[in-house]
Amino acid sequence: MKRRINRTITYIMAVFVLFFTAVSLLSGENVVSPRKTIRIGIIENAGSVNISCEGGFSVRDEKNNREMKLDSRKVYLVSARAGGIGINNKILGGSIRIYSLNDKNRLRVNGRKYRGDLRIALKRGKKLTVINKLGLEEYLYGVLPREISPEWPVEAMKTQAVVSRTYAARNMGKHNSKGYDLSATVFCQVYGGLQCEDERSNKAVDATEGEVIYYKGELISAVFHSTCGGFTEKSSNVWETNSSPGYLKCVRCPYCRKSPRYSWKKTIKKETIRKKLNKSGYKVGRIHKIKVAGRASFSKRAININVYHDAGKLSIPSNKFRIAVGADIVKSTMVKLKNYPDEIKYVGRGWGHGVGLCQWGAKGMAERGYKYLKIIRKYFPGTKINK
Ligand SMILES: [Zn+2]
Repeated sequence: MKRRINRTITYIMAVFVLFFTAVSLLSGENVVSPRKTIRIGIIENAGSVNISCEGGFSVRDEKNNREMKLDSRKVYLVSARAGGIGINNKILGGSIRIYSLNDKNRLRVNGRKYRGDLRIALKRGKKLTVINKLGLEEYLYGVLPREISPEWPVEAMKTQAVVSRTYAARNMGKHNSKGYDLSATVFCQVYGGLQCEDERSNKAVDATEGEVIYYKGELISAVFHSTCGGFTEKSSNVWETNSSPGYLKCVRCPYCRKSPRYSWKKTIKKETIRKKLNKSGYKVGRIHKIKVAGRASFSKRAININVYHDAGKLSIPSNKFRIAVGADIVKSTMVKLKNYPDEIKYVGRGWGHGVGLCQWGAKGMAERGYKYLKIIRKYFPGTKINK
């Protein structure tokens, strides 16, 4: 009996699959395409959050599948409580879904508007994680204005749209263990929800809908940074891997000169550097001097940094050094160092790790009339763009 039911279910499913495949073939859609929805961790470790909606909305307790209508005129305090998630004075299970009853009415989290719906989960019995689930293209609407200025030329925005889409598609499930795909921070891609959307950048997303970058049939690792400073970098020189994929190599970039971070200077106290290194787990005593050890060909980026201190010598990959001291202080590894008694003077070029797309370079190319496909293939040589 059971087997017969299973067989029937399999049969019904097969009919469905055939039907939808036929429909999508007829409509000219790609049958095999990256997943169309994405889960973004927008808030983590919160004690409580305020939730409201522009119209009628609902909460579903995922424990017993019970649903409760919510009032559009109210702001609800959703909080971590002993034994579950509190919504005003009601206690629900450890995982709830909140959604708008009409797609036109948007949800608000702490006053910020978001597309799609929300999942709120109780972590370790005392903190809340808020996850925004929405369409991949809608997600990109909320990424673009955070990653580049919506005032930039259209072709630069289209470039960023394709690169950010590829990044998201390739990194789907990166934070599965936390219940979402990507975070909304610089560690993934910065995402600001509907609140930060701009008409111009939304158009750039629409104009490139579904387009992603491939290399030898695989989605690429679509990394990007603000300003390369003249040359992008081979990924192995930055992330200490044994080899670099063919599309992440050193590319000459004469296009980012207008970036305010094309060249910079910074003086940092040795004591500050010592404290920052210690905080990141590198045990160093009083610093005597800091020297570059090994430079990349072409770009001359520092590969390693030697820190001579009271208790010996610390040799550290320069990108790790940069992040430990502060990526907004030591802006890149394309640096020259000068040692003074108490401080180090940095003379540098560019901002960011320098691998993959140079955003200011893309802007410069767009201003010179290059189209986005050309720009992408400049910074990711040998790649193809497909839907
Ligand atoms: Zn550049």
